[in-house]
Amino acid sequence: MVHVPGPLKPIAAILQNAGYRCYLVGGAVRDMVAGRRVTDLDLATDAPPQTVMKLFRRVIPSGIEHGTVTILFKGKPYEITTFRTEREYHDGRRPQQVEFTASIEEDLGRRDFTVNGMALEIPDARLIDPFDGRSDIKRRLIRAIGDPEERFSEDSLRLMRAVRFALQLDFSIEPRTFSAMQRHAPGITRVSAERIRDELTRMLATPQPADGFRLLRQAALLEQVLPELLEGIGVEQDSAVAPDVFEHLLLSVNGAAAERLDIRWAALLHDIAKPRCRATLENGAVHFHGHDEMSAQIAADILSRLRYPRRLVEHVAHLIRHHMFDYQRQWSDAAVRRFVARVGIDKIDDLLLLRAADTFGKTGRRRADQQISELRRRIDVVQQEQHAISIADLAVNGSDLQHEIGIPPSRDMGTVLRFLLETVLEDPALNQRERLLEIAERFYRERIAGPRQA
Ligand code: ATP
Ligand code: MG
Repeated sequence: MVHVPGPLKPIAAILQNAGYRCYLVGGAVRDMVAGRRVTDLDLATDAPPQTVMKLFRRVIPSGIEHGTVTILFKGKPYEITTFRTEREYHDGRRPQQVEFTASIEEDLGRRDFTVNGMALEIPDARLIDPFDGRSDIKRRLIRAIGDPEERFSEDSLRLMRAVRFALQLDFSIEPRTFSAMQRHAPGITRVSAERIRDELTRMLATPQPADGFRLLRQAALLEQVLPELLEGIGVEQDSAVAPDVFEHLLLSVNGAAAERLDIRWAALLHDIAKPRCRATLENGAVHFHGHDEMSAQIAADILSRLRYPRRLVEHVAHLIRHHMFDYQRQWSDAAVRRFVARVGIDKIDDLLLLRAADTFGKTGRRRADQQISELRRRIDVVQQEQHAISIADLAVNGSDLQHEIGIPPSRDMGTVLRFLLETVLEDPALNQRERLLEIAERFYRERIAGPRQA
């Protein structure tokens, strides 16, 4: 049985005393009936927005043009939306105008899926369920309210929402609803990149997103939203559990932690360019040379197209660019330091998380990798020894080189500093001011200034 969350009763009482009704609606009712943890509590009322504004002390007209007011009650925000009918869609994206109604049933009728079309009356906990969402929850089904063809032509975002809810709730999509989705899939291009991104982000936060991408493919949505992923279908690669690049990428996503959006995107896209880089040698061997760099570029294009923040785009691309490292026990300490310098000490942990996801995508198993643990230990040593691993750690800086040796601030300065870093990565003992000035001077005279004059 469902019970009414505590603070809702005094809120409902305020509306009732003014002659209005109050319902809990949307995801909260669905999650309560399904026995899931409830997140945000959205309320609906027949009171007009202006009246709601007057009845509560602390209010924010957060979505007043759609009839939504946020009230702050005992320090917590609640959205209260006046019953609406939204029948007039013209561009398949947004209703032209909102109309209010006094009927909760009418308000529920404009919603997307039966499981989202229930209301719980407050305070007496009576369930209003005109589309039998309860049975669909029992049968674990996402079903459009009313005529699915109509619902998807009104609003194409519902295509993504159907897949996302199926994934989040571990439900199936009811066959009629699903075939309507397949027919209406091309309409997704009318939806803004930001809204598609937000749905993908929610999908990637579920325990096993791979199923969601398989569903997107079956619904003909993947070819609109992430067509690059489809290129991997049928492109074989060596793996015991994933027959092709497509399945390998999907499994890799499952292998990354749900709370790490960045690692999940990196896992999904780390081999995205393999199909384009595939080549066969004379002896018949297949290789994918350069796929790391090209995958990083394609990943950056995809994530920018989806309007993800620059920071995320660059971080994911960086991890993908470096994902092909091949650690061997024989690596010298200098090789470990060069690896750390190349990747960046602050990004090593994430790169190892991507490697773990990649390995899961090949083996289907989450097993501690001995070699990676050893690399991890050796990197810890590098950090403890506090050896220089970036130009900022050098015992000299650009200004020293300018004043002591006379190198003008220029691109050459960068070249000299990089040479010094390489030298110190090879032999940390050289990271002393006098030694570095000596080395820099010789390098600059012999390799940069000298050859130019000659
Ligand atoms: P979540 O757990 O993701 O918040 P939710 O069901 O609460 O799930 P919201 O996006 O918060 O989803 O929307 C609240 C309610 O509004 C939904 O349950 C649904 O009834 C309705 N709704 C939201 N978006 C649409 C839409 N595009 N078309 C029809 N109804 C919608
Ligand atoms: Mg919600």
